[in-house]
Amino acid sequence: MKIKSADFVISNSDVARCPNEPIPEYAFIGRSNVGKSSLINMLTERKSLAKTSGRPGKTQLINHFKINENWFLVDLPGYGYARVSKRDKKTFQKYITNYFLQREQLVCSFVLVDIRHEPQPIDMEFMQWMGENGIPFAIIFTKADKLKPKAIERDVKTYLDTLTADMWEEAPQHFVTSASQRSGRDELLNFIDDINEK
Ligand code: GDP
Repeated sequence: MKIKSADFVISNSDVARCPNEPIPEYAFIGRSNVGKSSLINMLTERKSLAKTSGRPGKTQLINHFKINENWFLVDLPGYGYARVSKRDKKTFQKYITNYFLQREQLVCSFVLVDIRHEPQPIDMEFMQWMGENGIPFAIIFTKADKLKPKAIERDVKTYLDTLTADMWEEAPQHFVTSASQRSGRDELLNFIDDINEK
């Protein structure tokens, strides 16, 4: 897929106020600092479409970007940032939960995990919740440039084995990416393209 246009549309914390257009939507979510903004900028070839996090945990909104006039890329807030208050965490959980449960246009979500990290409880719980609620998602491993190819293969396998051992019969689809090396871009965009064309 060639990115011809990528435009910011709206930010809000209320799923009812998300754009009303019936076009497919893809959401990106993960722990703060996982490399989500860098990945979105890499995918869209825009230097700062998504704000890279100077202040992790501060972009607590649902951000809609319209791509090529025919699909939405949704940048969701990073979760698991320790310095967010309990009250903020609750509010956050509620509107993100509402977003996933109520957003009809949502076709697939991408859960980002740092390829260097072992499976973290917060990610596991989140994926479990997605599965229980029938919300389709794929995993994106980020920062692959930090590891050698052999280690990538080994760690991805361990990660997926953990998922299948704990909760899934089959591991979710996954992508290995690096924003700094621009790798994994074609695979991800082709995946989105294929769904959009169905
Ligand atoms: P976000 O909080 O998930 O949006 O993460 P950011 O995109 O702001 O990135 C967090 C930190 O990880 C920054 O210091 C980035 O430079 C770094 N980072 C992001 N993507 C990559 C990557 O692909 N490779 C490497 N080596 N560092 C990355």
